[in-house]
Amino acid sequence: MTASRGASLRSLGFAAMIIVLPAITWYVSIAMLHYDGALVLPDATFLTHVAAPTTVSVALYLGWFGLQVILMKLAPGSWVQGVPTPSGGRLTYKLNGLAALGISVGVAVLLVGSGVVPATVVYDELGPLVTTTNLLVLVLSTYIFALGRAQATMAEKTRGWLEAFVVGAALNPRNGTFDWKFFCESRPGMILWLLINGSFAAAQYAEFGAVSNAMGLVCLFQALYVIDYFIHEGAILSTWDIRHEPFGFMLCWGSLVWVPFMFSVQALYLVMHPVVLPVWALCGLIALNMAGYYIFRTANLQKHRFRSNALRPIWGRRPEFIQTARGSKLLVSGWWGIARHANYLGDLMMGLAWCLTCGGARVLTFFYFTYFVILLVHRERRDNDHCAAKYGDDWARYVSRVRWRILPGVY
Ligand code: NDP
Repeated sequence: MTASRGASLRSLGFAAMIIVLPAITWYVSIAMLHYDGALVLPDATFLTHVAAPTTVSVALYLGWFGLQVILMKLAPGSWVQGVPTPSGGRLTYKLNGLAALGISVGVAVLLVGSGVVPATVVYDELGPLVTTTNLLVLVLSTYIFALGRAQATMAEKTRGWLEAFVVGAALNPRNGTFDWKFFCESRPGMILWLLINGSFAAAQYAEFGAVSNAMGLVCLFQALYVIDYFIHEGAILSTWDIRHEPFGFMLCWGSLVWVPFMFSVQALYLVMHPVVLPVWALCGLIALNMAGYYIFRTANLQKHRFRSNALRPIWGRRPEFIQTARGSKLLVSGWWGIARHANYLGDLMMGLAWCLTCGGARVLTFFYFTYFVILLVHRERRDNDHCAAKYGDDWARYVSRVRWRILPGVY
């Protein structure tokens, strides 16, 4: 293949992402709202369900986004330094996500309690909201592209404009201390996910006069995930996305559209399917979710704490590690001695528990788990390549000691 043909194909791929990714969100929400959650082939009738933005959906989303910007700026929190950037410096971040979450939920309760906004508003406006958010993210991505281009390093400036728009023009586009990647990754999407679930539970209540135990369970599981995320907000600063991923349409769209509207698909399905789980299933799902949560949280904390204090005991013993020639230490104790990404395993177990709350009647209710397996398997491969290139023989020693990638005994 010639170089120019390869470049054209890459450009085609980037352009396709701007169209295909939003189309998936329309497809899933329409299939859930109008086709009982069935996997259908979109025909002309299907396309008539793509909703245009409404005054309510635009006002709701702009109000929401504005509130999050204000909270990011003004809510109380501590300033911390991030991990060193490739250019050697350290950026500062304000960790006030927990306060932003609490205030946002408080505002939502106040608006619903006072009758200004019906609790079912997200469900009632779901179609227009999906379209509105997709369109506004395109506008925001254009701004972020322009900002990123102005702040890009020489190496980043070599990206073509389409690639820079989709993948990101710069690693950390900022207005002063306002970091767009950190903001978008955590605030308008993650907190909205929790409120969307609340609105879906209210819609089920409005329809059937009760909230089923399956709906209650999935809302609680996901609330735990979101609250935990903000309790450990500082740990986000050492994640792959913050350290290595440029900020462009892909990450912006993923954080603002994909997370709130696609991660809430189980609750959306349950609105019209008030699944009542038998006690054995309830207990099994709680066990699966909490075991997953335990592995996910303790694995992430073990690495996080080890990196700041390599002597802190793990499971009651002094940690074992491989000292790399690069200077970093690779942990071989705790979960990091069992699999190279047990934290992904925990995340996947939780995802499976969420999907199983819907029973097994519809393939689309397993959408999250399927997507997540693909994402994390791909991410693990990419991280492995990154570490192999970074640590060379030291990584090979680690891999020979810890054979399994994610699931011990299987993968
Ligand atoms: P990890 O937190 O797993 O970090 C990987 C990095 O850790 C490596 O690049 C390497 O960085 C370092 N590392 C690898 N092995 C070791 C070791 N043995 N000892 C010490 N350091 C090591 O990656 P992610 O940022 O991908 O994931 C963080 C969490 O976020 C996970 O729990 C994941 O499940 C979750 N997640 C959730 C998503 C969602 O959509 N819900 C999406 C993506 C992730 P270094 O260069 O510092 O050595």
